[in-house]
Amino acid sequence: MKFEKIKKILQELTTYIPLVVTAVIAVFIILIIYNQTQQILKERLREKLIAIASTAALQVPAEDIKIMQKENSLTIPQISHVISIMKKIRDSNTNLKYIYIWSPNNKNTVSFTADAEMIEPVDRDGNGKIDGPEIPPKPGEDYDVTDLPAVKEAFFYPTAQNDFIVDKWGTFLSGFAPIKDDSGQVVAILGMDVEVSDYYKIITATFIPFLLLTILLLLLLTVQTVSLSRIWKSRVNIVKEIDRQKDELLGIVSHQLATPITSIKWQLEMMLEGDIGKISKQQEDYLKSMQSVIRDLNDLVALILDVSRIELNRVKIAKQDLNLATLFTEIFKIISPKAKEKDINLIWDVPNDLPIGKLDRRYTKMTLENILSNAVKYSAPKKNVELHVTIENNKLKCIITDSGCGIPKQDQKNIFGKLYRASNVINSVDGNGFGLYIAKGAVENQGGSIHFESEEGRGTSFFIELPLDQI
Ligand code: ADP
Repeated sequence: MKFEKIKKILQELTTYIPLVVTAVIAVFIILIIYNQTQQILKERLREKLIAIASTAALQVPAEDIKIMQKENSLTIPQISHVISIMKKIRDSNTNLKYIYIWSPNNKNTVSFTADAEMIEPVDRDGNGKIDGPEIPPKPGEDYDVTDLPAVKEAFFYPTAQNDFIVDKWGTFLSGFAPIKDDSGQVVAILGMDVEVSDYYKIITATFIPFLLLTILLLLLLTVQTVSLSRIWKSRVNIVKEIDRQKDELLGIVSHQLATPITSIKWQLEMMLEGDIGKISKQQEDYLKSMQSVIRDLNDLVALILDVSRIELNRVKIAKQDLNLATLFTEIFKIISPKAKEKDINLIWDVPNDLPIGKLDRRYTKMTLENILSNAVKYSAPKKNVELHVTIENNKLKCIITDSGCGIPKQDQKNIFGKLYRASNVINSVDGNGFGLYIAKGAVENQGGSIHFESEEGRGTSFFIELPLDQI
């Protein structure tokens, strides 16, 4: 019961697998697009910053810088001149927040030369004091630039950092350009930090509608999947119910037909035996032919009744003491004329000392008869049809082998299905496709098993096992 419930839940969940896969792909695509947009916008920002830094670097007088580097003092006039130029550059670029000059030092450090606020520091946090990072560094103070590869590059050409710097004042991108003297010698580098909050606003502005659209599409897809799966399930249930009702009807009809057919059969027999007076030769012939038709009709009705019983799980197995030797003799009497008629060589390997087993007589006989008749029916003249019977572990084992037309590979998985006939015989050999369906039902309802091996054009072997419940 629990297992059934879990199975049902799992089946339910498998409906959503395509949806989950779609959602994962959608998220993946959104992330790629987001990343790409970020890269493109960042690249534009870097290009812009490099252009501003290189133009600005040309405005700073290299000769003043040289003096500042030598003096390391805040009082020399060159300082106020350079600072006023830097302030002008800063004020003419809206998002430019910091501008500063660094001088070459050694491999991993540069020394601070000047920034726009070094004489008049700004109280950025508005606490009324110039404290923490607001205190400007002193000229000549060292800066470790190990993690700023762009600074080292800037001694050769204008460049910008690849990554943003995020601190409590905002998100910044830094750009650098060399300051050269008249002889082209690099004297220092000009650095500038640009606030890039707008950049995030742009990305969010493009990203959010896209994300909302994707979520909406996924929601629509979910609703569609759920309703489609519901429609599908109700369709399957309707088809199953129609099939069940059809089998029920077949069962009722064939059951109702059985009584009048039996009555006709008896009356024909009585007439043939002369119970209602002497009959002529011609009347006898007619009655005999009617008897044969009624026999076929009777078999067909019984067949349909069996099919509907198996389909509706209403097979009634009547196990009784069955003399297996007698059973196989009876079957031989039915099969051997058919084999003879087709010039088939029947190999009957049945032991003499068969026990008495507990089996349903009608179903067992019907199964063996059907498999053997098929072997004859689907074999060409002069071929062998073999029956090998053994008793092992209290089981009746029968192997029926022929070297007939075989069952094509693509039909094999359906061959025990109701009304199913293989493609290689459907138009050439008569049949109705009920036999194997009933055989399987008959064997399995007795606790046995049936399977086959077949190769198209080479032949077929059926393997039947029935537990004997020996007495
Ligand atoms: P049918 O009345 O068609 O023989 P069955 O249910 O007995 O119906 O068999 C179903 C199908 O299985 C047959 O139509 C045939 O295609 C295939 N089949 C059964 N037995 C054999 C066999 N011995 N050799 C080849 N094909 C077979």
